[in-house]
Amino acid sequence: MNVVLLGPPGSGKGTQAKRIEQTHGIPQLATGYMLRAATLAETPLGRRVKSIMDAGELVADDIIIALIRERIGRPDCRNGFVLDGFPRTVPQAEALDRMLVDRLTGRFTCQHCGASYHERDNRPKVDGICDVCGACEFICRPDDSPETVKARLDVYRRQTAPLLPYYRKTGILQQVDGSADIDTVTREIEAVIAGI
Ligand SMILES: [Zn+2]
Repeated sequence: MNVVLLGPPGSGKGTQAKRIEQTHGIPQLATGYMLRAATLAETPLGRRVKSIMDAGELVADDIIIALIRERIGRPDCRNGFVLDGFPRTVPQAEALDRMLVDRLTGRFTCQHCGASYHERDNRPKVDGICDVCGACEFICRPDDSPETVKARLDVYRRQTAPLLPYYRKTGILQQVDGSADIDTVTREIEAVIAGI
């Protein structure tokens, strides 16, 4: 499950992201924190971020995207993540779509017990043998090919995203009021998640 929390500064995204992290075991990826961490890292990217932030300027999309791409490739993001502060711009949203295509591509599951694996970052310990049950037949979801995933995302952007304002008008869009007290917001988010 990948969750993207959108909301203005101060709406409580970070707090709710932390709670989703705890309840669902998927890490919170907060761009603010990641940028500060990058400035402390002695890497070329980190030094670039530091000079930009020291100058009080906004960090460009390509840098944020590079940070996120690196982060979601780590093993703890295998089952998903909560994004808090990203995407903030349309180019970032488009980059996220491309990253998700990369993630969705290459998944396969054990035909016997259903354990899930990924060609790139979650292979069985012994190639071709399920870690869980020892079976050696795997199935690839046919709708996970890069072309299919990309097509599905394109369709979403073109056809489905416009439904948001449509359903907002008809009143059945599920929205969470981030200005309510924290426990209430958590309950509402959990209710939305439970209904997925
Ligand atoms: Zn298995």
